[in-house]
Amino acid sequence: MTLKNLSTRLTTLVYKRILKNQCCVCEITDEGSLCKTCRQLLANNQYHCQRCARPAQTMLTLCGECQTSTIHLDRIIAPLRYEGLCRGLIRKAKFEQQPHLLYPLIELLAEHILQQDIELPTDWCLIPTSDESLKTRGFCQTTLIYRQLKRQLAEHMTSPIKLFPLVRTSSISAQHTRSKQERHKLSHRHFSTNNTAMPKHIVLIDDIVTTGSTLNACAETLLRSGAERVTALTLARTPE
Ligand SMILES: [Zn+2]
Ligand SMILES: [Zn+2]
Repeated sequence: MTLKNLSTRLTTLVYKRILKNQCCVCEITDEGSLCKTCRQLLANNQYHCQRCARPAQTMLTLCGECQTSTIHLDRIIAPLRYEGLCRGLIRKAKFEQQPHLLYPLIELLAEHILQQDIELPTDWCLIPTSDESLKTRGFCQTTLIYRQLKRQLAEHMTSPIKLFPLVRTSSISAQHTRSKQERHKLSHRHFSTNNTAMPKHIVLIDDIVTTGSTLNACAETLLRSGAERVTALTLARTPE
């Protein structure tokens, strides 16, 4: 089966599930893609660092890491904590080829952006998925997040959201023999953008934030190419 066929088959499954209007966890009908009861099982990332979204006990202006490290991102948005049901849905979506399980989480991200009145630019780019992950999963999770968010936020934007190219130029795993400092120094070289008309403010999309190093490396590439601000949109952040 080719990747193209696989992806079409999965897309059909997704739409069938959405049209059935069934909770993707408990399968109760008529309550949307995630019912109210299951929604309450997701951990909101209520208190966090205002820059990197690192979960905290109280609201922090800047966490210790943001105060001591070079963070190239203006802000990371992550409405949920990557634990419990949220973790289960994302893992099943990515590793058991069930992309429809990301839909309710993307809806929550869109709701969060609108409720918090977060100002976003219309140039967006995606954390590039490696060819290896694409082959295993049969779909690209960041593209799925982009398409759904675009659909849900389009009417609230001043002009149409468009995709800005960001490509992976080398494998991070090939860098495993380097020290942490060397990896950090070279990390931005894993990504490139060849567009000369760089927007001032740009959105970067990823599914989850763990250490934030990939987002930071991509943001560094965008800033080096002429952007002035990078805001990341993600579904969830790991608790530390
Ligand atoms: Zn449910
Ligand atoms: Zn922080």
